[in-house]
Amino acid sequence: MKKFRRIGVLTSGGDAPGMNAAIRAITRKALEQGVEVMGIIGGYSGLINENIIPLTTGAVSNIITHGGTILYSDRCKEFKTEEGMQKAIATCKKFNIDAIVAIGGDGTFRGATDLTLHGIPAIGVTGTIDNDITATDYTVGFDTAMNTVLEAVDRLRDTCESHARCDVVEVMGRDCGQIALMAGIASGAVAICIPEVPFDEELAIEKIKSAKAAGKRGMIVVVSEGVTAVDENGKTVPYGELLRSRIEDQTGVETKFARLAHVVRGGSPTLRDRLTATKMGVVAVELLLEGKSNRVVIEDNGEITDLDILFALTVDRMYKNKLKEGDLEKFSEADIDEMRKICEKRTEEIDILYKMSYEICK
Ligand code: ADP
Repeated sequence: MKKFRRIGVLTSGGDAPGMNAAIRAITRKALEQGVEVMGIIGGYSGLINENIIPLTTGAVSNIITHGGTILYSDRCKEFKTEEGMQKAIATCKKFNIDAIVAIGGDGTFRGATDLTLHGIPAIGVTGTIDNDITATDYTVGFDTAMNTVLEAVDRLRDTCESHARCDVVEVMGRDCGQIALMAGIASGAVAICIPEVPFDEELAIEKIKSAKAAGKRGMIVVVSEGVTAVDENGKTVPYGELLRSRIEDQTGVETKFARLAHVVRGGSPTLRDRLTATKMGVVAVELLLEGKSNRVVIEDNGEITDLDILFALTVDRMYKNKLKEGDLEKFSEADIDEMRKICEKRTEEIDILYKMSYEICK
């Protein structure tokens, strides 16, 4: 067991419900092992600006129920520069921070890798509502976000039903359609549009027409924010807004557009997010105590485990068709095979759900 005197914990990038549960678990697990914990305020910028507070058992009391992050979050460009990194390392030395646990998404993990390369062991814990990190089945915040969408759409359905309307609801998820797909199915949407699968607009409009003819009054279409289109002026616009007018024009059903936006980011985390964040936080501290670094804590078939951060980031690039020249050179054939399998698994899962939604959503 490696003996750390003191570790730091930070949250970075987009916030997600459950981040506080992870902070709490990391703090308590470390303290229980005799390791002090410093909270770094405002993501990586807190390391650059020396914005650091001690975390005690009491300091993380009563935060498990709260959305957002008590350590606040930031997008810090300076941290990506060598000068910024040197300041961050100097802060770690000044405050005797021997290692860092960074909670966030892929950008946050890139930062964690850079810290490790500069001599500060770092572990990543997933915290993003989008579930867009290919190497893990689950990211903390996803379940809460889906349930928030569900609640909002249920409310819209009530009023759509009363007024015989259609509502096109745009939900967050960046380039990942998982929130839209799963919450769309669970909310009984008539059509779902996500970036991963080509959308058959004509079919969706036909479905709405025949549903209307069959007497259906309220209709919901869920569109992921990652889907864009080019309007008549050649401008790239969110597809949901275009779809709204096309549905109204072609079906005669009064159609509204609702962008849920950051509403989906907030709120008290669900049991799933609190529990997963707690498990992941505990594993992050265990990994550090085992002398490991540059690992990201993931969920794989229901089990909380860990992966090399570079491996995880490369799988992600492979899945998103963003591999750069030389990215795969650092990996063995077996690793690359494993990466392909992870990508295939995700593609297959989304395809199966999407096909199912086509049959069920009417
Ligand atoms: P997320 O972690 O949710 O993907 P971002 O992509 O905004 O969010 O990244 C969060 C922060 O992580 C950035 O503001 C920056 O401080 C740090 N970061 C992102 N990419 C890198 C990188 N390539 N090297 C070092 N730090 C990075």
